[in-house]
Amino acid sequence: MRLEQFPQNVREHILPQPAGTYRYRCYTCQAEYGIETLLYTCPECRGVLMIRDVEWERLKQVPGPKWREIFDYRSMVTEPALRGIYRFHELLGSILPLDAVVYLGEGHTPLVRANARLRDWAGMPFAFKNDGQNPSASFKDRGMASAFSYLNHLIRSRRLEKVLAVCASTGDTSAAAALYASYLVDGVTSAVLLPHGKVTPQQLSQPLGSGARVIEIPGVFDDCMKIVEHLADRYPVALMNSKNAWRILGQESYSYEIAQACDYDVGHLVVVVPIGNAGNITAVLEGFLKLLDLEIITALPTILGVQSEHANPVYLYYLESDPARRTFRPVTVRPSVAQAAMIGNPVSMPRVIRLVERYRAVAGERSVQVTEVTEQEIMDAMLIANRNGHIACTQGGECLAGLKRALHEGLISGDREAVLDATAHALKFAVFQEKYFEDRFEPDFEVTPRAELRNAPMLVRPPEGVAEPVPGRSMDPDAFRRFVESTAAEIAERLNLKEVRG
Ligand SMILES: *Cc1c(COP(=O)(O)O)cnc(C)c1O
Ligand SMILES: [Zn+2]
Repeated sequence: MRLEQFPQNVREHILPQPAGTYRYRCYTCQAEYGIETLLYTCPECRGVLMIRDVEWERLKQVPGPKWREIFDYRSMVTEPALRGIYRFHELLGSILPLDAVVYLGEGHTPLVRANARLRDWAGMPFAFKNDGQNPSASFKDRGMASAFSYLNHLIRSRRLEKVLAVCASTGDTSAAAALYASYLVDGVTSAVLLPHGKVTPQQLSQPLGSGARVIEIPGVFDDCMKIVEHLADRYPVALMNSKNAWRILGQESYSYEIAQACDYDVGHLVVVVPIGNAGNITAVLEGFLKLLDLEIITALPTILGVQSEHANPVYLYYLESDPARRTFRPVTVRPSVAQAAMIGNPVSMPRVIRLVERYRAVAGERSVQVTEVTEQEIMDAMLIANRNGHIACTQGGECLAGLKRALHEGLISGDREAVLDATAHALKFAVFQEKYFEDRFEPDFEVTPRAELRNAPMLVRPPEGVAEPVPGRSMDPDAFRRFVESTAAEIAERLNLKEVRG
């Protein structure tokens, strides 16, 4: 839609100009720093940082209903920079000029409601938000669009040269970082560190295809993370992990999109997210709090975080009901099908602790819940979801298993509606489906396939004496007809079909 076609009262807001003043703020000691240099941890106390708009209050000059109107109309703009997460420009990157925005098609992912059969299985109505429909097939593109747009802005405004973007990854962060880095022509290359043998072949193929330097390291993600931090402390590299506060900022778009898709009526929702490094849940909490602060929404949804029993430090932390007695202890992870969340020492834990406190202070003790599920439950839930029209990855399965568990345990009530984060596309994690179907799970996973959920291709060949087609060779028409008829008959028998005409 062209600018002059928008109603007069919103037209001036449709194309945002850079505004606001962003600062890094330490979550531990509250120190603040300018954003002119890339900073990941507090130079004073090494705490994690968040980005704060010092002039945030100015946004309150526009009333909540007006913001809704602006964001809704803005989704009709054809300007590419506003097609993705930056249609919420004022909330997650207001200092950026639109020509610095890197847009590769991220954001705007669909909500797909569960059919009646799946709803009954789960015990309540819900929808998957398919973040696997982002360009690198996971939600990580949201944060990467933000981090690379800012990097692009820095490169242009400070004339930086030869920036090396690095990250450690359980697979999807590196796919996203490599994709965005490969798009920027001026001055950025990327290197990604992966735990050897702990990412799927699809995830490994992504940064390779994008032309990144791919480095594999023995150990698990937590070990890779330590090495990347060591590098970022000593060498001139741009750290693209979720320690980078720009990543969190971009991921807030997930909350904004849910709000917009529900006409800003989210108080009855349960928003379910898997927790790994805890960047995503940080962004989701922060996102809804910001919307409430600007009165764009009038009530907060309940947030349900889900972890696997094999990687459950956040769950264990919140198991202690007395806040004064909670202590965070990293765990040693065991093999998990929710491999993207297989993290024992989440970088964003300090952020989560603060935000959950704030969230609960506003919306009540029960407004943030954390539950854990078994590996078996994750696999079964994913397969059942995908047999009902979804494209959930194992972490999406983890959300569904968590919803069922939380409902059963009375953590949430079934008269609500849930939005589950299908954080990546099913295809990225096809190896786990394959292990299930072929009953090839290593014992550590503790997954036993249920017969009714298994599936395998059937090879149908014609009976003895009937010729088969051979690629590249032509076939006698009569022989080919015999092949078609006998093979069709065999298939009909296996599928139990009755012939209706002869
Ligand atoms: C990164 C990731 C997660 C975990 O998110 P955190 O922000 O690390 O908690 C879950 N699912 C997928 C597919 C991911 O890529
Ligand atoms: Zn500090």
